[in-house]
Amino acid sequence: MTLARVGILALQGAVRPHAEALRAVGAEPVEVRLPRDLAGIEGLVLPGGESTAIRKLMVAYDLLEPIRALADAGIPMFGTCAGMILLARRIGDGDEPAVAVLDVEVRRNAYGRQLDSFEANLDMPAVGDAPLHAVFIRAPAVTDAGPAVEVLARDPAGRTAAVRQGNLLATAFHPELTTDRRVHQLFLALVGSRRAAQAAAVG
Ligand code: GLN
Repeated sequence: MTLARVGILALQGAVRPHAEALRAVGAEPVEVRLPRDLAGIEGLVLPGGESTAIRKLMVAYDLLEPIRALADAGIPMFGTCAGMILLARRIGDGDEPAVAVLDVEVRRNAYGRQLDSFEANLDMPAVGDAPLHAVFIRAPAVTDAGPAVEVLARDPAGRTAAVRQGNLLATAFHPELTTDRRVHQLFLALVGSRRAAQAAAVG
């Protein structure tokens, strides 16, 4: 079986660590800068960085509509930090949503100055019993979530830090910056399930 080709939106931000994490879990990372780079991908990672800058570049390179169409077609997507903001339908401080497919409201830079960046061990049963070491960097928090959204992990203060809605996965933290690959594995499992479902549909 061929490796799953998984795109990484590569306009700005933490692209390379995601490529390494995807390779480590057995996927083939593909950097996405233009709409044509989306051809044939079976999943898409939206990395951390600066969501306003990434959104502007997505508009400039005509990526918003095709990415939204892929999400609507069930292509699994995984947003980390700024990537979570890009997937969100609502942004608390009035910024314009980007892909707008994940039924959550997020607040950018939710942790304020003192907690600009911090690390914490989180319970995330969806990836197993062992605590997950999570790195938060000027992270957003999920402030509201629709009924289809499952909370996968909370920060030590109880704020939602990881969610799943069908084939959409998002974390406020950066799993690509640690050596624990379980969140990328979970994402690749979504990619694998969709591939199996497509194969079954084709017969
Ligand atoms: N603070 C950034 C934003 O609002 C996100 C930070 C990150 O991705 N590490 O877009």
